[in-house]
Amino acid sequence: MSLIITSPLRGWATTLDSVPDPVFAQRMMGDGVAIQPLGDTVVAPFDGEVVTLHDAGHAISLRSAEGAEVLIHIGLDTVMLKGEGFTPLIAMGDKVSRGDPLIRFDLDAVALAATSLITPVIVTNAEAFAISRRTVDCAIGACEALMTLVPVQAEARRRSDDGTVVEQAVTLSLPHGIHARPAARIGETARRFEADVHLLNGDKRGDARSTVALLALGTGFGDEVVVQARGDDAEAALAAIVALLATDMGEGKPAAAVTAAATAAAEPLRVGQIGGIIASRGLAMGPAVRLRQTEIAVARDGASAAEERTALLAARTAARAQIAARADSADGNVAAVMQAHLALIDDPELLAGAERRIAEGRSAGFAWRGAIHDQIDAIRATGNAHLIERIDDLIDIERQLLSALTGTPLGGDALPPGAIIIADDLLPSQFVALAAGRPAGIALLHGGPTSHVAILCAGMCLPALVAMGDALNEIADGTPLLLDAEAGLVTASPTPGEVDAFAARLAQRDARREAAKAAAKNACQTADGTRIEIFANIGTVEDAVLAAEQGAEGSGLVRSEFLFLDRDTAPSEDEQHAAYQGIADALAGMPVIIRLLDIGGDKPAAYIPIAHEENPALGQRGIRVALAQPDLLETQLRAILRVEPAGQCKIMIPMVASLDELRHVRAIVERLRGEMGITTPVEVGVMVETPAAAMTADLLAVEADFLSIGTNDLTQYVLAMDRGNPAVAAGVDAMHPAVLRMIGETCRLATARGRWVGVCGGLASDPAALPILVGLGATELSAVPGFVAEAKQIVRGLTLIEARAHAELALQCKSAAEVRALARAFEETRR
Ligand code: PEP
Ligand code: MG
Repeated sequence: MSLIITSPLRGWATTLDSVPDPVFAQRMMGDGVAIQPLGDTVVAPFDGEVVTLHDAGHAISLRSAEGAEVLIHIGLDTVMLKGEGFTPLIAMGDKVSRGDPLIRFDLDAVALAATSLITPVIVTNAEAFAISRRTVDCAIGACEALMTLVPVQAEARRRSDDGTVVEQAVTLSLPHGIHARPAARIGETARRFEADVHLLNGDKRGDARSTVALLALGTGFGDEVVVQARGDDAEAALAAIVALLATDMGEGKPAAAVTAAATAAAEPLRVGQIGGIIASRGLAMGPAVRLRQTEIAVARDGASAAEERTALLAARTAARAQIAARADSADGNVAAVMQAHLALIDDPELLAGAERRIAEGRSAGFAWRGAIHDQIDAIRATGNAHLIERIDDLIDIERQLLSALTGTPLGGDALPPGAIIIADDLLPSQFVALAAGRPAGIALLHGGPTSHVAILCAGMCLPALVAMGDALNEIADGTPLLLDAEAGLVTASPTPGEVDAFAARLAQRDARREAAKAAAKNACQTADGTRIEIFANIGTVEDAVLAAEQGAEGSGLVRSEFLFLDRDTAPSEDEQHAAYQGIADALAGMPVIIRLLDIGGDKPAAYIPIAHEENPALGQRGIRVALAQPDLLETQLRAILRVEPAGQCKIMIPMVASLDELRHVRAIVERLRGEMGITTPVEVGVMVETPAAAMTADLLAVEADFLSIGTNDLTQYVLAMDRGNPAVAAGVDAMHPAVLRMIGETCRLATARGRWVGVCGGLASDPAALPILVGLGATELSAVPGFVAEAKQIVRGLTLIEARAHAELALQCKSAAEVRALARAFEETRR
């Protein structure tokens, strides 16, 4: 006798193939139909009894008088909502009639919070009932016929056996107990064996092949369940199910377990440990070696002005040749810093300052030092912390020229390899000389995380901590050190146990890097199949080539201002076009997101007049400058629009604070497209760098093609801490819960409007942050090129469900330090 199952919801009926979750799409739980709901009340699909009702209220199953068991699972990943938005209208064990309301849910709230609202309706005891007819690909009302079930002949069912029973107890480490997804995995495993397998929880007993029976066991984290198997292959079936139950089945550790680990990880430092700010992530161990700076003395008064001038120019030529040689033999960041030094050593103001002093009777060395210090004083007077960090570069060229002038060796380039270098601070040229000696890591008393030395260390993957304070002076040369630039900690004279644990972490890290390199070119998705694009942040064609080599799937941020800085006039349309075309070609066919000129604040350009501002970070910055300079903006837009193939380059607007700015740029883009005869649409997205943009992400999402979160600026504006000010550097951490909540809110508001959200700020290059960003809803991460392969590997090792649970915990943390401890504990669970 057949049984009609009617629809439990009003909506659109579709096949399980269209459910974006392999558990349902691959019928692991059983066959059925899915409904895209338009109504908010689940009603009984037949007369029967409620056999399971999940605590979270998102899933219910019923058994008909004939024995058919049907599960209704409202939305995907809705177990994570922990009941929020669901109101059960019946209780377990209730008898219901077809059409009786079972669960009411808040359609909007669940739609915003869940991966999808699609609701699978599954026949879970396929061994007893088969579907003979189903309604799909059409609108359906509640209580309209959805499926017809026919009983499977008894003899066709699997064989039963009266052999001995084997059993074993196992403690569940599933954070939510056996809910629908683990039940499906258990059922799928059990079906591979002939044996009967049952699970027992107290006095409840359920067939391992029946999802409903497993749900009805009502298990939770830490429950001890007994697995019983009987039949020919009972031993093998028992072993397989026990092994499966012993894992967390990719669901992540429960909140309590991870929080406890996080608390442990956040324990105070012991004697011999010194905290610092991470300038370049990584791990290193080796002996401490103190870098001693050579003081270069110069006489005040010189010989004749002609002699001193000649000596100065000769020393400048020698120093320049040395810097140029380093620039030639280096690439990437080192070459860029050396180029900046070449420009400085030829700076006309410096030379004029030195000339003036020589004319007053001073020695060449004294005159050069005086000219440099005039500039340093002028920079200090600006109060701009970002510029103040550049003072290092001036002191660097002061020393290099004086070294050439006096013949004093600068030292520091003959340190033993594998050492951890301790210094007050490091000048870029000292770093370059030291790096050739292959140190293991760097620990500085002073210094800031955005200094050139920090950038150089990161570029070379050399772990570095800065701003460690005077305690570092207590460490004697040769003391064994563990430098943990993941936790921001140096441990002096570690115990053998600490050394072993650290060495194990180093070995794991190396293995992970190797695996990442091998899989760098493969597309990236989470372990449960969610596509996450890993892009790279770039500034030049060379960066683009490197990014492509590292496996980047596009560029999520082309910092176009690099074309505009350190020059006297703006680049022409043709020059810009050539640069953008070069980048697009290097990333053959992949998306290239070009950020419009982001000038102002910490990135001044001499030829763009911006009046003196008390608060440059809150003044003329980003799109505000571009809109005030329409010629500049239109020239840049035309250069981008000319790139072939049309559409490969997308346009991204920096520092957006209101919808009007997006509308304004969009109108200009559309006008230019018309004038230039470009018919292919060109995407225009916004950067979310201001709290205003984050909190109005829903409004922006309606009109923007995408949103990309700039965590560097968002952090400074959310925390009201200057991102370039070393005095507050320790607090400027994008893992602050306030920043994470802004990111989460941006993702929630924008994805509900159908727009993707990416992250292109520094947080996307922080391995500890990636699981949180994915869990918060970012689907594109744009990192520094050198981190792309590793980022892909991290994402591949995650399931969306565990990332979401982890992100949820991060949002509840009370400080950035607690979030970082939680992230470390999470990383531990992956090892
Ligand atoms: C950001 O603010 O996060 C960002 C990516 O832009 P920039 O660092 O160039 O200001
Ligand atoms: Mg920014």
